[in-house]
Formats: sequence, structure tokens, C-alpha cells
Amino acid sequence: MAQSGQRKCLCCGDFFIPDPRNRDRQRYCSAATCRLTSKSASQGAWLSKPQNTDYFRGPLHVQRVQSWRLAHPGYSAGCTRCSRWGMSRHADPRARARRQRNWHHHGA
Ligand SMILES: [Zn+2]
Repeated sequence: MAQSGQRKCLCCGDFFIPDPRNRDRQRYCSAATCRLTSKSASQGAWLSKPQNTDYFRGPLHVQRVQSWRLAHPGYSAGCTRCSRWGMSRHADPRARARRQRNWHHHGA
């Protein structure tokens, strides 16, 4: 049985005493590999949250795209970037990610 206050590391399964300041969220012991696992797990958790995966598709982005279109009427039809890529590239997830990073005006 684990003593009270101890946690079982999700990575190596050893029991450890969590940092009192971190007690509620510390799931891994202080071993280097477990810390690394903890770090990548928390990054994965960040991405798996719907509000974070929608980061580039949220209302703010749509608003930005719409105001950009208002400020540049008719530009979308003759978009040089899109004609250079070819429309098929729009289906490419990597091109999609690049477009999102660049706040491209065609949006998601
Ligand atoms: Zn561990």
C-alpha cells in the first residue's frame, strides 16, 4: 500500500512524494525520463483540448479573415499565393498548417 501523500508515477510506476505546491497535478516522479514523459504528455494534453486545437479556427481568426477581405475587395479571386500553390494544395494538411500559421486570408 502507498503511504498517504505518495503518488504512483505514471511513467515508471514508482511511488514518490509530490511537491506540495504541485500536489494536484504532479503525476510523474523526478526521474529524468519521467519528467520528459510528463512534459510531452502535458503538451499533448494542451493540443487535445478543443479550445486549443481550434486556436487557429476560432471566431477571432474568422473575424480577422473577414475584415481582411473587406479591406482588400476582390483580392481572394486573384490570390497569387493560391494560384502558385495550385488549388489541390489546399487539401494538403501541411499546406493547411502553413496557411494557418501565416494567417492566410482564406481561413480554415
Ligand atoms: Zn517515474
